[in-house]
Formats: sequence, structure tokens, C-alpha cells
Amino acid sequence: MATATLSIDLAALVRNWKALDAKSSSETAAVVKADGYGLGVQRVGRSLANAGVRKFFVAATEEGADLRAALGPGPEINIFSGHMSGDTDMIHDLQLTPMINSIDQLLRHVESLPGHDFGIQIDTGMNRLGMEPAEWAALRDVAEKQKPSLVMSHLACADEPDHPMNAQQLKVFKEVTAGLDAPRSLAATGGILLGPDYHFDVTRPGVGLYGGFPFADAEPVAQVAIPVIQCRDLEVGETVGYSNTWTAQRPTRVATIAAGYADGLLRAMGSDMQVYHGSTACPVIGRISMDMIGVDITDLGEDPRELGILTADQTVDVLADAAGTIGYEILTSLGNRYNRRYIS
Ligand SMILES: *Cc1c(COP(=O)(O)O)cnc(C)c1O
Repeated sequence: MATATLSIDLAALVRNWKALDAKSSSETAAVVKADGYGLGVQRVGRSLANAGVRKFFVAATEEGADLRAALGPGPEINIFSGHMSGDTDMIHDLQLTPMINSIDQLLRHVESLPGHDFGIQIDTGMNRLGMEPAEWAALRDVAEKQKPSLVMSHLACADEPDHPMNAQQLKVFKEVTAGLDAPRSLAATGGILLGPDYHFDVTRPGVGLYGGFPFADAEPVAQVAIPVIQCRDLEVGETVGYSNTWTAQRPTRVATIAAGYADGLLRAMGSDMQVYHGSTACPVIGRISMDMIGVDITDLGEDPRELGILTADQTVDVLADAAGTIGYEILTSLGNRYNRRYIS
């Protein structure tokens, strides 16, 4: 079989959630947007719910519908994009909770679904989503009477603990929520690690659950193993792959493995990435193709059946560094071609 295997360790996912939960005295929710950071929202969501998670966050209402199908009634499913036009029936029928981002969304919500749960998202400086403080000040009395289930904001620089933006946003968030009779939430993974001042009533970790930076103590959750399709011997001077970018300087044994950039193994990772046989690293040689990668296995002294690319040694963050990106992008780019194996 020439299909790579993506193993998803649900027990490690749950341990990461528990470790982040232990860092605050707040309620710890779970962010499972983008199909559970690419790892499968239904399996990820069910494991976390079984471990005691009662609040989930997704980006869009459709994602909330997939999650509700997996969880059944009970756990709260919050929608970051709020109450978009066309989503009213789904929000109602599936008991989803929109995080309202504007006066238009607030009007749409209270007029179409009076009495239905909602939260408020306030922009404290990131300028991405949420009401501006002045807009919120004008609406606060009306909104408060409707009893929002949560008032939240999001930090722009939480993965840099010394960045002055953190304290700046904290100050604004405290000012605009002072005296409010509603639960408050500011921290994602990075915010949890900034300490108790940032925790408020609910924390919203995402990437740390899936084993990514900035949660340095996270256990890896995703591993990728790729079958070897073919091995061959090269003489000095022969080349490998598109555009002849690699030339053999010694007699070389090359393995061709069955995954490539269509599986989220970005072309930009190039030769900064290793491929692993157990804990032995083998260099990637030549360009990464859509479905194949060349590997120098000369020093292994054997032809392996498969090689690892996302391993305990080469985590999503190491791969991300090789491509000049972040672990979030590696996880959410893995795609649908893998044979997925869930370990619980
Ligand atoms: C994605 C997201 C989170 C989770 O962030 P992580 O850095 O993955 O922990 C929390 N809140 C909001 C608003 C988000 O968009």
C-alpha cells in the first residue's frame, strides 16, 4: 500500500488538555476549529468531551454542526465568527452559541432568536474580530440585559511573553469588562502560559492540545510514517528529482517514499527536513514532489519498509521551522490522503 499513515494519539491529546487545565483555576475549554487542527474534529471532540471538556470553540457554524453530530446534546459549542446571515436555523436547531462580533450580529441574533445563548467578542487591539471598545460601550447595557454566556477577546502576541502588547490588551480587556456580570475569557494556549492575570473564568487552548508551540511541555499527538516504494543505487554524478537539484558525491542508495507536498509536506521544507528510521535521521535529497520524496539511506545499511517524517524527534514545530512557518500550518495542511490511525 502506497498510502502514508497519520497516527493520532488521543490519549496524548487528553493529557495535554489536562496539563493545560492544571495551569489555571479557570474552566479549560478546547478549540477544535479547522477539523480539530487537521486531526479530525469528531474523534478529537469526543475524546476531549469524555475527558470532561464542557466548552468547545470552532471558527464557523458548519464546523459547529460537525462537532454537534459527534458530541450530541450537552457540551457548549461556541462559534468565533458569530451569527452570520444564513446560519440562524443551524444555530437554533443544533444549540450553537455564536460569539457576537458587531452591532449587526447582535441585532440579527436577538431579533431572530430571542433568548438563545450568545457570547460577545471584543477587539482589544488585534483588529481582527470583535466589537471595538466604543461600539461595546454603546451596546453594553442592552447586551448585558440579554445575559451573554461569555465575554471574550484574543491576544495578538501571547507566544512572546515579553511583548508589551500582552499587558496593553490585558489592560483594555479589564477596562471594558469591569463590573460585568458575565464569565470572561482572554487566554488561548499562549495566554495560559502568561500566568494567572490572563486566565479569567475560561481559557481557550488550541495548538497546545495538539502538541504544538508555545506549549513547550506538550506531548506530540500526530505522527506520520511513509511507505518506501522503491530503492535504487546511484553512481557518483547521478542526480535525483525534478530540476536535478541534488547530485551524488558518493555511491548512494536512495529510497523513494510515498508522500509529498499534496500531503502537507511542503516543498519549502526541502533539505532542511530529515526522515527517520527509528531514531536514525536520513537526509532528504532532491526536490519534494507532489506524491514522493527521495531519501539517502546509504548509511542505514538496509532497505526500510517505511520511514517516519513526523516523529517524537521531528515534531510539527521542527518541520515548521524547516519550511519557515508555524506548527499550526503544518497540522492543518496534512490533508485527507493519509490512512488515519487513532490511538486511544
Ligand atoms: C485559534 C484561536 C484560539 C486558540 O489558539 P491557540 O493559539 O491555538 O491556542 C483561541 N481563541 C481564538 C479567538 C482563536 O482564534
